Amino acid sequence: MPIKLPELPYAYNALEPHMDEQTVRIHHDKHHATYVTNLNAALDKHPEWHGKSLEELAANLKSVPEDIRTAVRNNAGGTWNHNLYWDLLAPNAGGQPSGELLADIKKTFGDFAAFQQKLNATAVGHFASGWGWLYIDANGKLAIGSTPGHDNPLMAGTANLIGKPLLVVDVWEHAYYLKFQNRRADFVGGFWNMVNWKKVESLYAAARG
Ligand code: MN
Repeated sequence: MPIKLPELPYAYNALEPHMDEQTVRIHHDKHHATYVTNLNAALDKHPEWHGKSLEELAANLKSVPEDIRTAVRNNAGGTWNHNLYWDLLAPNAGGQPSGELLADIKKTFGDFAAFQQKLNATAVGHFASGWGWLYIDANGKLAIGSTPGHDNPLMAGTANLIGKPLLVVDVWEHAYYLKFQNRRADFVGGFWNMVNWKKVESLYAAARG
């Protein structure tokens, strides 16, 4: 089993009330875990692809053998995106970033509230399952967009966005339906109270080199 499921970095109930314990349990232990299992099952058919990182798989999807390419796209994306997602959330978090990231957000989107509104609108407006992203685009600028399925901006030549991910919100129904049912906007509104901006700032600094 070359790819492992990371442990949740906090207790299952640590994100209450914005993300309820049952949702977190099923989301991490069942959905996220299944992507890992299915990715390993696909890679087992082509052992020469064992040992590749999730980032390498995403960046080289077009070279992945055709018979497992869709499975790798869906499940390497599903694994990587969820690894990032849980890491970007934290109990007693939220607020705003600081330093260069905050300055860049203000420069790009006008102010922090306008940035939040744009990501909210993108995530809430995304049709069906997918993810809403803040990322650094190919021109080095902050950008907001959404991807279908488990595509992510690392999937150059495959996904509709290309760049370096900084922040992501999962808008698959499994991410919110037990607590919020059809009210995706309420879930996305509460998402801001869980964002670990220190982590986002570290991704921003790393991406800026
Ligand atoms: Mn999910």
